[in-house]
Amino acid sequence: MTKEYKHLETKLIHAGEPDPLICGAVSMPVFQSSTFECAGEPGYYNLKYIRLNNTPNHEALHEKLAASENAEAALVTASGMAAISTTLLTLLKTGDHLLAQDCLYGGTHDFITQDLPALGISFDFIDGNAPDSWKSKLRSNTKAILVETITNPLLQVADLKAVVQFARDYGLVSLIDNTFASPLNFRPPEWDFDLSIHSCSKYLNGHSDIVAGAVIGRSDMVNRITYKLARFGGSLDPHACFLLHRGMKTLAVRMKYQNESALRIAEFLEGHSSVETVNYPGLKSHSGHQRAKDLFDGFGGMMSFEIRGGLEAANRFLENTTLPICAPSLGGIESLITRPAATSHAGVSAEDRHAIGISDSLIRLSVGLESTEDMIEDFDRALTK
Ligand SMILES: *Cc1c(COP(=O)(O)O)cnc(C)c1O
Repeated sequence: MTKEYKHLETKLIHAGEPDPLICGAVSMPVFQSSTFECAGEPGYYNLKYIRLNNTPNHEALHEKLAASENAEAALVTASGMAAISTTLLTLLKTGDHLLAQDCLYGGTHDFITQDLPALGISFDFIDGNAPDSWKSKLRSNTKAILVETITNPLLQVADLKAVVQFARDYGLVSLIDNTFASPLNFRPPEWDFDLSIHSCSKYLNGHSDIVAGAVIGRSDMVNRITYKLARFGGSLDPHACFLLHRGMKTLAVRMKYQNESALRIAEFLEGHSSVETVNYPGLKSHSGHQRAKDLFDGFGGMMSFEIRGGLEAANRFLENTTLPICAPSLGGIESLITRPAATSHAGVSAEDRHAIGISDSLIRLSVGLESTEDMIEDFDRALTK
């Protein structure tokens, strides 16, 4: 009995909720039970068991996640990496070839470069801004193309429409990691991507207190990935399901605030004499600004910037800011700040880092829900000190 809800804000609250309410509970209860009494289910995958991703907490979340991107189906997983690895290993087998964007999330990059070749699956990296160059990387055994909505930490926006068209022209599965945009700013199934993948540890949960992931999109593919996940074992615990479910209800209000606050902070930084560059897709100066405007409903809460004075100035700034916590990860209610060369991209050689435009002094910021005025005041003080 799926009711139709028109707008995302309403779906986040009501889609997937039990009807009728369980004992009248307004909030979906946690079913902390590993197994459930048999009710004449026809086969192994129909038995209710946490690892089979089909307990009431999983099913409620699947409906809410699918509704959030207007997709046919969704699957929740134990982490973003469980979603990515299980998806790639469902779609690719020995002898297959993958095209992937050249500046992916570190964990995804390492999975593709270190784990796939050991299984006889090859790959080539593509420049998301140069669709004309993709065909030269295509092989007769290419099966899928993987990109990210907004890249880390330079916040670039690939030619996403061209990715979908290219996949259609050459019979590839189109995959996108939509973590940075969240369903509020971009819904890949509406643009005909086959599958949208999320680290729900970030905006979807929004409170930096769990690790979880999701695969959203075509039901035939989501079903195959669900069976694979049941065998690999990367299922989300019901209590973490409950926390993600609760976090999702406030996604729209959180993300709208983060969109607005990040734009104002980016504008402040861009106008400050101590700041050299700001990478934020909402700024007119950003190379992907027009594309982001065409595709997205908001520009997100992530940005990166460089302060004049190199590494020393960057470290001084990080020491002098008092509001953002110096920690990796993103998408939570608290602002987080890092220097990617020392954290997310520490595993990449200095030469490769510089080749892709990540200087040692680049600073990445995930804007939280603090007052925008307080954030700007804090940054202003830290920049002038
Ligand atoms: C964090 C992140 C991941 C990995 O997710 P986990 O939940 O940490 O496993 C994947 N992609 C992007 C873009 C991320 O930011």
